[in-house]
Amino acid sequence: MLEKHNVPLKDFLTSERVETADGKFLMIAKDALDCDALISVSKMKTHALERITGAVKNQYGCISGVYKKLGHTQYPNAESFAHMLIELNQKVAPRLYICDGIVAMEGNGPTSGDPVSMGVLLMSTDPIALDTVFCHLVNLDPSYVPTNLYGETLGLGTWHDDRIEIVTADGTISEKELKRKYGNPNFNVDRRKARKKGALDLLEILGVFQSRPYIIEEKCKKCGVCVESCPVEGKAVRFDNGRRNPPVYDYKKCIRCFCCQEMCPHQAIQVKKHRLPWEK
Ligand code: SF4
Ligand code: SF4
Repeated sequence: MLEKHNVPLKDFLTSERVETADGKFLMIAKDALDCDALISVSKMKTHALERITGAVKNQYGCISGVYKKLGHTQYPNAESFAHMLIELNQKVAPRLYICDGIVAMEGNGPTSGDPVSMGVLLMSTDPIALDTVFCHLVNLDPSYVPTNLYGETLGLGTWHDDRIEIVTADGTISEKELKRKYGNPNFNVDRRKARKKGALDLLEILGVFQSRPYIIEEKCKKCGVCVESCPVEGKAVRFDNGRRNPPVYDYKKCIRCFCCQEMCPHQAIQVKKHRLPWEK
């Protein structure tokens, strides 16, 4: 297709160090920084860390391969990671955001969930507005998504419905009409995790209700991809008995970036939510 339209393929392998407002840095693909115009095409999926991955999260693909791990260690929780994503979007500044929700992914996203037909294609110049419409379609409060909240505070876009015009083939419609005509109220996002900030956050900080990855032993092929992808020095997931058994987690070291869950090629890792004190 690219050859037919005489479009050169870019590999995003060469990166440029770009300083961030918090004194850290990102290694961004030069191809993304130097292009005439970037058009971001994402898939509509759930995401263990940020609840959803759509227009905003897609730009993490502009961080060159090996530096993705570094990003997860520099920004180890949903809030700091969301802040970084907003700044990254501002630096690469796509001109248009497209999100393919013709077939979306629900459940254990972004790689091990289940396909679900949504039949929508979303487009906007405002990635926060686009992700907000995504949220409405899957019956998720947009203010529960950290990239939406910080995206508006930091000036990337808006998640407030009175500032978003939703235009469909049938003309402009309200958020309620959107939900009624195109939404899927049964779309499986984790609603326990998708909640407003509050008292439970203290318990989460204390580790009582913290989400964590775990391996479904019957599905594990002992390939070691999760171990390789763990960005923590000394590894928070590793084999402790050669490769005879699946890897084991050291939850004291684990920063909950969920890279292992995302990278496992056999859908053997799930994210367990809100561990209760008596749960293993
Ligand atoms: S990546 Fe998945 S299949 Fe491979 S060792 Fe880890 S849990 Fe098992
Ligand atoms: S074990 Fe998994 S979730 Fe924990 S730090 Fe490593 S890659 Fe991230």
